Amino acid sequence: MRVEILGVGFDNVTMDQAVAEGVRLADTEGAHYVVTPNPEIVEACREDQEALEAVNGADLVLADGIGVVYGAKILGTPLKGRVPGIEFAQHLMGRMAQNGKSLFLLGAKPGVAEKAAERLQGQYPGLRVAGVHDGYFQEDGPVLEAIRASGADVVFVCLGAPKQEKWMRRNGEATGAHLLVGLGGCLDVFSGEVRRAPEAFQKMGLEWLYRLAKNPSRVGRMMKLPLFLVHAAGQKKS
Ligand code: UDP
Repeated sequence: MRVEILGVGFDNVTMDQAVAEGVRLADTEGAHYVVTPNPEIVEACREDQEALEAVNGADLVLADGIGVVYGAKILGTPLKGRVPGIEFAQHLMGRMAQNGKSLFLLGAKPGVAEKAAERLQGQYPGLRVAGVHDGYFQEDGPVLEAIRASGADVVFVCLGAPKQEKWMRRNGEATGAHLLVGLGGCLDVFSGEVRRAPEAFQKMGLEWLYRLAKNPSRVGRMMKLPLFLVHAAGQKKS
């Protein structure tokens, strides 16, 4: 069952259910993909049909931030909770380290994915990283070939939104992987270059405030959150 917010359908699942589904999809024939939209992406989808189709076409649509959870509440169709993409990815890697599935890291500036791979293999003993590629390429062909040749089961696609969602929809099958997950700036965090907000901020639903304080140039993007809530309230009335 999906909860619709401004045209985007979110899967009403807990973290455990999401991870179980991710593990199942990674083991299922064909290419599947997961998206983790925040309010900013939902707003972008209102003006970009291709992005909307890419997001709604995903096999799993997870409510990345507290804003989406508020939006669902405003609409009277509450979600079970938020399922942050980065935590979904961490749980998934834990399971992959146990079941021998291999991972390809795609995205971020040159050198970042390599660093992330090294750190992740330390954090998840047994995790197999089949390959990496930066996110600043001009042609898809060589990248798809690299992923296919690596034989990876799962690909973390970290190209920023909505680029990564469109990329996964267009190229999922050609990677040969069973599961692709769109994860925005996660490789920057996994590499240790960017730090996540302290847990207290995360628990209070204020991770966005921490990110804003660290990087004030995000203010334009952040203003999408109140706008999103106003639009959600508008959807309820109409
Ligand atoms: N990025 C990329 N290729 C591009 C544009 C962006 O690999 O053409 C990367 C960028 O280096 C960063 C991530 O995509 O690692 C986007 O991070 P951001 O925090 O903006 O994404 P969010 O999680 O907020 O969607």
